[in-house]
Amino acid sequence: MPCPAADPSGVSRRGFLKVCTTAAAAVGLPAWAGERMAENVARGKKPSVIWLHFQECTGCTESLLRTSHPDVGALVLDLVSLDYHETLFAAAGAQIEAALEQAMSAGDGKYVCIIEGAIPVAEDGAYCRIGGKTALEIVRTVAGRAGAVIAIGSCASWGGIPSAAPNPTGARGAPEVLPGKTVVTLPGCPANPYNLLGTVLQYATFGTLPALDAKGRPKLAYARVIHEDCPRRPHFDAGRFAQSFGDEGHRQGWCLYKLGCKGPQTHASCAIQPFCEVPGAWPIGIGHPCVGCTEQEIAFKIPLHTTIPIERPTGPMAYPGTAPARGEVSAVAAGVAGLAVGALLAGGFVASRQLSARADAERKEDAP
Ligand code: SF4
Repeated sequence: MPCPAADPSGVSRRGFLKVCTTAAAAVGLPAWAGERMAENVARGKKPSVIWLHFQECTGCTESLLRTSHPDVGALVLDLVSLDYHETLFAAAGAQIEAALEQAMSAGDGKYVCIIEGAIPVAEDGAYCRIGGKTALEIVRTVAGRAGAVIAIGSCASWGGIPSAAPNPTGARGAPEVLPGKTVVTLPGCPANPYNLLGTVLQYATFGTLPALDAKGRPKLAYARVIHEDCPRRPHFDAGRFAQSFGDEGHRQGWCLYKLGCKGPQTHASCAIQPFCEVPGAWPIGIGHPCVGCTEQEIAFKIPLHTTIPIERPTGPMAYPGTAPARGEVSAVAAGVAGLAVGALLAGGFVASRQLSARADAERKEDAP
């Protein structure tokens, strides 16, 4: 099956499928779902996306565009029909306002509304107006007619850095200004592009959204804290900590907890899904403690290098097994199993004695 999406970015069909299956996995879907997503796009069924910008640094868009190996940014732009995006559009003024109206009318009730940036509500929206309308008016109008609403990045999810105290603009996250509307939140500064791609493609292919947690985050992508998957975790468990930037422990790649790492309380998938497709391209990977950018209670509230308490300082003594549940074990079966284990242990003991005796004999023969 030819893959039209592969041509513009020069990505092979295999690479294209890999992006789709990785995106599916990011939101908790199996590989076959990724293949269905790819087939859907190959048939020309691209979701219409209207992308709004408010109070932000455009870092989430930049993060998306700067990906590589393969060029996920180019693929994303091939996988969706990006019908309105203020940063990427060549048009401006009345032309781009007309494009927005047209996109909303053409895809009424079906398009995906992606919100990047916080929404300022203080002073009757005086801090952000586009085309004469306040950010609040725009977000309520566009999101109100959308089939799915996604808040990308921490600013759109819960206010992010624009909402840092004293928050003079009254910056809010999208869920707060869209009561009653389901808003998928993808916090992160920036958000991981795969989480966005997986969410959009799931909606476009299956008409559903990922399972969400109480904060509107895709459960799978935000289920674990960084600390659980961190490559420096063995150093933490062994008590090896960098004490200051540039010291021996820091140069050796030891745990950054004592430098203020917020990984133990930060829900994100950065440790297993690095940015820009480059292994190690995330804060801890390049030697800086996690700043907790996804967490409203941490980011821009607790100073970068202040240590935080750890709820579960050590891993559990035993992890749950992966074997399916089985029926009751009878006393007879337990006895037979015990005999079998005993026989194995006894056999192993005898074998080890024999090996040991043989090794002793060989040592004597080799002795000068
Ligand atoms: Fe990794 Fe930070 Fe946890 Fe250390 S404290 S293991 S650097 S997440």
